[in-house]
Amino acid sequence: MIKGTRKICMDKKKKIVLVAHDNKKPDLLEWARFNKDLLARHSLFATGTTGALLKKKLALEVERLQSGPLGGDQQIGAKITEGEIDFLIFFWDPLEPMSHDTDVKALLRIAVVWNIPVACNRASADFMISSPLMSEEYERLVPDYGEYSRRRRA
Ligand code: PGA
Repeated sequence: MIKGTRKICMDKKKKIVLVAHDNKKPDLLEWARFNKDLLARHSLFATGTTGALLKKKLALEVERLQSGPLGGDQQIGAKITEGEIDFLIFFWDPLEPMSHDTDVKALLRIAVVWNIPVACNRASADFMISSPLMSEEYERLVPDYGEYSRRRRA
């Protein structure tokens, strides 16, 4: 293991977040329908409207957070930081400015800070979900931020 890193264990049952901007919701729904059986084996979270659609159209068990523009993306970021999320599927819209663009940027940043797998389009999501690692435990390497935290307090 690289010096200054530590491992966070992902269970076989992953904690997966699904989010889609409005123009991308049909895409996400179709993708989730295709992968429904596999998704149902994991713990699912979603922002408000995305979660409502997944429940209504696919009858998936989903823990719904706030809608993205009302803080849902920030809630996901907080959960990632607390180790409560393993996996992010986020179909964001590259062609529309959003009221909460800064939240989206913050979420994508925090996902990288904690080395969370992220898919922002269907092809990436296909590759990720078909990985053999989906059904195995996985040790995610993250930098040991202890030194950084101590430096900030000094
Ligand atoms: P929504 O939020 O699922 O409530 O539409 C998604 C987002 O805009 O981040």
